[in-house]
Amino acid sequence: MSLIVQKFGGTSLADADKIHRAARRAIRAKLEGHRVVLVVSAMGHSTDELIALARGICSDPPKREMDMLLTTGEQVSIALMAMAIDAAGHEAISLTAAQLGLFTDSAHTRARIQRISRERIDRELEAGKIVIVAGFQGVDAGGEITTLGRGASDTTAAALASILGAEVCEIYTDVDGVYTSDPRIVPKARKIDAISYDVMLEMAAAGAGVMHSRAIEFGKKFNVPIHVRSSLTDARGTIIMNETSNMEAISVQGVTLREDLAVITLHGVPNTPGVAARIFAEVARNNILVDDIVQNIYDDGRLANLGFSTNAGDAREARAVGERLAEKLGIAAVSVDEGVSKVSAVGVGMRTHSGIAATMFEALSHAAINIENISTSEIVISCIVRREDGQRALRFLHDAFKLDQSPASTGAD
Ligand code: ASP
Ligand code: MG
Repeated sequence: MSLIVQKFGGTSLADADKIHRAARRAIRAKLEGHRVVLVVSAMGHSTDELIALARGICSDPPKREMDMLLTTGEQVSIALMAMAIDAAGHEAISLTAAQLGLFTDSAHTRARIQRISRERIDRELEAGKIVIVAGFQGVDAGGEITTLGRGASDTTAAALASILGAEVCEIYTDVDGVYTSDPRIVPKARKIDAISYDVMLEMAAAGAGVMHSRAIEFGKKFNVPIHVRSSLTDARGTIIMNETSNMEAISVQGVTLREDLAVITLHGVPNTPGVAARIFAEVARNNILVDDIVQNIYDDGRLANLGFSTNAGDAREARAVGERLAEKLGIAAVSVDEGVSKVSAVGVGMRTHSGIAATMFEALSHAAINIENISTSEIVISCIVRREDGQRALRFLHDAFKLDQSPASTGAD
């Protein structure tokens, strides 16, 4: 019998009506002949509310206790969901990560899944029940409760779908799929029918906030299709799946914007072998994420300005690391620019289509937007622009790549 995993996010469980609605959807799948595993997030914004409660007690709560607190949100949801299914006359059972046997490492607040036991789930499914699993949580080898990071119920769902060999992992949410760009900024953005795991991973990294990246990685590794869709309608959403030749035919599938970046620049870096290695080793040792790197050589090759972009949240720490390095390596000055954004174009078709970079630069030039840095990889081209230009740049790129038009001839589905 085929098995499907359905995951409901907080907004799709915000009140009793919505919980009943989600329950009906699971029951329908069951009546259609599937085995059904449900993964649920905490209701509405309750995780944020729990965090606020903790902050009301102290500013830096122990991580173990944060996990203890935050996992209660999902425990509320699984119980209410099981009650809703029971009230509709069907059998269900709710399980926490510990009851199920979803084991993680011991890194509280950002644990990684190590092993999932099938035994309990299989037994309950065999008994004809809908199994409801608390997302976002795990248990370590010592029995301590952990969490997998914000938004990680997606990852619980994809991991379960992977080990159970599910036909599909359905992610029910308050949007009707993955869009060519952020519809709040680009009103012409269009829903994408099908997208490859790799493009989705790049879009997520480049700023598209639809799904937790690790969920996409699980889907990719075990080749489980992930269907992102609305919990309010029956409309088909976006399928994240293996790459098809149809996807290759589309040059660019989406454009994204990151507004949470800062650029750290070391000015007057001695341009000698080994300096970059020392700088980036130190940056890595301090767990500062490096996004793109820019280097300009001057003074007849004797000196360089070496910059890198990082998460805005790491900017202060990055400056401190830069200043320590400046002292050690005889670097003239360190500057931090928090007024930048990054726009990116993403698509597997970039491998085979030429002229994509040219289209991107032309579009920005038409918009009179200055490009401060360019970086490229196999399926992504990104430009750093001034923060105030970012949203306009996104709209211009969306037009330039004609993303508002459906790629009819290619029919990715
Ligand atoms: N409730 C958790 C959070 O808000 C997990 C999730 O929703 O995916 O981050
Ligand atoms: Mg989410």
